Order: sequence, then C-alpha cells, then structure tokens
Amino acid sequence: MILILKADVDKDSPELTRLHEFLENFPGLNIRMVELEGETRAVREIHLIGPTHNVPEEVLAAMPGIERVVRVSTKYRQIGRHDVSFVPVGFTYNGVKFDQEGLHIFAGPCAVDTPEYVEETFKVLKGLGISTSRMGAYKPRTSPYDFQGHGAACLPWVFELAGKYDIKVIAMEVLKERHIEEITKALEDAGHPTGVMLQIGTRNAQNFELLKAVGNQSEFPVLYKRGMGLTIEESLNACEYIASEGNRNIVFCLRGVKSQMSAPHRNLADFIHVPVIHRLTRLPVCVDPSHAIGSKDRAPNGLMDIFNAAAQGVIAGANMILVECHPEPEKALCDGHQSLTPKELEMFVEDVAVAREAFEKRQNVYSQEMMKEMIS
Ligand code: PEP
Ligand code: MN
Repeated sequence: MILILKADVDKDSPELTRLHEFLENFPGLNIRMVELEGETRAVREIHLIGPTHNVPEEVLAAMPGIERVVRVSTKYRQIGRHDVSFVPVGFTYNGVKFDQEGLHIFAGPCAVDTPEYVEETFKVLKGLGISTSRMGAYKPRTSPYDFQGHGAACLPWVFELAGKYDIKVIAMEVLKERHIEEITKALEDAGHPTGVMLQIGTRNAQNFELLKAVGNQSEFPVLYKRGMGLTIEESLNACEYIASEGNRNIVFCLRGVKSQMSAPHRNLADFIHVPVIHRLTRLPVCVDPSHAIGSKDRAPNGLMDIFNAAAQGVIAGANMILVECHPEPEKALCDGHQSLTPKELEMFVEDVAVAREAFEKRQNVYSQEMMKEMIS
C-alpha cells in the first residue's frame, strides 16, 4: 500500500507522527518513507510492506496530511506506476534530468580501447552538442578468449578525458560489486570530472546480488537492461530489487530479446514496449538499437536498420538511446561491426531529431483531441 502525502507534509510534521502512531496498531508492517523528484514538487510517499489487508484504506485516506491511498496489486511496488494519474517523477544526476518526458543520446564505443579513440569520440560528441556517452570498461563476453575490457586501469584517463570534453554522464556496465568500488575510487581520485550511470547488462538481468549492490548505493543512477530471455513482468520484478534497496534513480532499457525469429538481426527489437514500460512504471525508458540489430545493414533507401529501430523507439516516446560508435569501427576491439562512424553518428543524431519531432506532433494530435472532448 502506498500513501501519497500532501505537498506540505515533511518528515517532522505532526500529521506524520499521528500516522505512525496509528500504524503501530498493525504489527508486522514495514514502513518506509520514499522521496521522489516530481515535475513541480518533491513527492513524498509512505510505503507499507507486509500484511496490509487489515489496514483500513478509508481511515487512512481521511487522515490529515494524506493526499491519496493506493493499494498496490503488482509486486514491483516501488518502480510501479500503479495508477495512470500518478504525478510524473524523475531524477537529476550531474545536471542531467532523466524522466519519462525528455530524450538523451548516450553514444560511444562498446569497449574502451585506446586514449586516442576515446578522446576522438568525446570530441565528436561535444561537436554534436551531446554530453552523455557509453563506455565499456568491464565487458561480459560470450567467449573467454575475447577482449574482456581494460577494467579499472582505463578509468583514470577515461574520466579525465570525459571532463575535458564536458561529458556529464557515462553509461558503464558493472559485473560485480567490486567494479562499483573501483569506479567510485577512480572518480574521487580524478576529482569527479564526470558522472557514471551503472549499467546492468542483459546477462545480469537476474543477478539479484548485483542488483542489490547497485540498489544499495545512492551515488550512481542505474541503467537496467531487460533480460534477453525474460518477460517484461520478470524483468520489472528483477529491476525492483534495485529500488527495494533504496536506489530509485533507474532507467529501464530495452535492447531486443533473443529469438530465432530475429534473424537477420541479432535480437528481436522490442521497442513497442517503450509505452508499456511508461504505463507500468515511473521509470524513464531507454532503447539500444545497436544490440537489438547487431549489424550496419541498410534498407534499399540507404537507412540503416539501426536508424529505423531507434526511430521506432523514439516515435513511441523513448527517453534515452544507447548507441555504439567508434572513430574507426574496423579497428574496434568489440562490436565494431555494429558501431557507427562519426559521420554516421552525425546523421543518426539528425534522424533521431526527426523521429522526436514526429513523436511530439503525435502527442499534440492526441492532446488537442482530448481538449476538444473536455470542452464539448
Ligand atoms: C552493452 O551495452 O555493452 C552490452 C553488452 O549490452 P547487452 O547487455 O544489452 O548485451
Ligand atoms: Mn556492444
């Protein structure tokens, strides 16, 4: 059960003391105060976990300080939206706002290789007015003989170069708790020239201990990738592990699902689930066309399948795009075959802007229709 508090009720309000006294009548309840960054104001909620069947909804709803009481039917109670009229929420990290409204492009190599290529990538992004990137330092590879990433060794120069080119957030996959510590230390040693969004890869989508570890810290937001063979319900429950540990700064990423039906693509793009995740949760939604498609094949009109997949996500309201690029894809140590060149990235950014404009126009068609209905 979720109790949404009125705007003026904070931790020390007498209304809250009274509420706590009342809740003491129901043994076994775990009571948690949750604060979220709302569009117009901070949203404060009390989450009641455990045996809530005896807790009278009407009594709580009538108590001073309570705006609304929501009975939660889904297991993913913290990330869930539960009610479509919920106040939109999001979070700001290192000056960048993430919510269900905006759109950010995180572009960069699959894996960090040389300082020269990383610098060139950041320079290209800065030229395009982009301050968000992706960089894999720890790489989960299908074969143990493939490049596994430079690990902690590359972090000092990656972070320093990011700062030099005004990169605010880097999405970086972590495979174990130790990697979070290494990133924390490297950022501290470098004087926080940039920020990191901890990425949970599809292979770790149900690694509950890792999910708890990224949930148990509040410094970094988390990019959670849907499990390649998991249903939406299973992935949302796994993602809830992060929030249940306290960290609600999460972006949910769709990256295609494994299916023989996906051929010739690497995965079957599931970007029609963007509005589904918007509807079911309060999380911003990311799409990863690079790993969904897995090649730079083009339609006869010249548009790459990666562009078309990204456009599908954006036209459906995606809030973030993870896309692989490299100054010289043929020399990349990982996923060069699906990495855009700087020139292609420039076109991609333009193409995304077209799709975004179309999305905004689509939204207007709908809101104007709604307005007419309300007036009549
Ligand atoms: C990645 O983004 O670098 C990656 C490995 O993706 P995924 O976990 O979706 O395969
Ligand atoms: Mn990759």
